[in-house]
Amino acid sequence: MTVVKQSFVQPPGPRNPSPVPVTNLVATLRGTQAASADRVYVVSGHYDSRCTDVLNFTCDAPGADDDASGVAAVLELARVMAKRQFDATIVFMAVAGEEQGLYGSTFFAAQAKAQNMDIEGMFTNDIIGSSTNDHGQRDPFTVRLFSEGVPTSETPEQAALRQSIGGENDGPSRQLARYVKEVGENSATDMHVRLVWRRDRYLRGGDQIPFLEQGYPAARFTEPAEDFRHQHQDARVEDGVQFGDLPQFVDYGFTARVARVNGATLANLALAPTSPKEAKIVTTSRGRRTRSPTSPATRSCGASRPTRCGRTRSRSATSRATRSRGCRRTTSRSGSGPWTATGSGAPSRSQCRSPRTWARSAATPRTWGRRGSRRPARGARRPRRSWRCPGRWGR
Ligand SMILES: [Zn+2]
Repeated sequence: MTVVKQSFVQPPGPRNPSPVPVTNLVATLRGTQAASADRVYVVSGHYDSRCTDVLNFTCDAPGADDDASGVAAVLELARVMAKRQFDATIVFMAVAGEEQGLYGSTFFAAQAKAQNMDIEGMFTNDIIGSSTNDHGQRDPFTVRLFSEGVPTSETPEQAALRQSIGGENDGPSRQLARYVKEVGENSATDMHVRLVWRRDRYLRGGDQIPFLEQGYPAARFTEPAEDFRHQHQDARVEDGVQFGDLPQFVDYGFTARVARVNGATLANLALAPTSPKEAKIVTTSRGRRTRSPTSPATRSCGASRPTRCGRTRSRSATSRATRSRGCRRTTSRSGSGPWTATGSGAPSRSQCRSPRTWARSAATPRTWGRRGSRRPARGARRPRRSWRCPGRWGR
């Protein structure tokens, strides 16, 4: 592992009236597999803190939760993982100037982009020190993970493509967050990862944002419910209430568990193959395998879908939902006629046959083995499943 100080001078801004030197501490654990060593994962916390007046640089600003907790997690991760080998490269980083305007992370992300660094995942741990909310309720086994759906760096062309095929809920950062939940929830971490479908909390931001702006997938770990009395406050007692971001309010066991979630995620990512590059959805035709919602009929079906089968559909207009009761081809199932709406209101039960019924119907493709057989013939193509209607309508 190599450690460098990455220093630069931040020009004056709204929260720093004069130029100020800023230094990031960057520890790099180089991957040991030649094919993966240039693939990078970044985990960070910010070591600057503040009191009530962000322009006051002489006040006491202990910053135990925001964000000594995140830096402590990163330091521990570096200590533990430095002794091990991973295929891909992991960067452990403590940045500065977060409270003044994400200065340290902005500089690092810009440098990374300029060097064409292949960062396939970035996590900021910011405010991971407390499991207690401002009502005194504890939730010590949950951490929130904020991730955006629509990429911050999306170009107008990419936006137009997304609007035509969907995908608002499966951007790279959102998928990265899902991966964290998959590998980070286990008996070793003893944690629940609550995925929050936002880039950050309301009117707030963090060090993941500069990475998102540069087109890198990134997400933010934060405790389950914050207590603002212990963030960005002058340390003081007011009406018997202790304000200030003080160590006495930190749940160290909780911070350790969040660090384990990070560790499990980073280890899995850095030992796994790279994510698919340039994955695309083929929309060249609207045949049986179409994924293109460009047909006006399809769009109208999509608009009439929500109450069909009493189920909320989350897929795109050309997914299984479009093939459901509300949108049927005017010709046979296997034909190529246009999608059309077949009326409104709840469908009859006969319209919502189970896949098993389908397998026995005349519409069943011949490739589905003997009629009446529930087992497919060897190499058979499984028929497309019908939409399963729940037992009760109109929920
Ligand atoms: Zn912070």
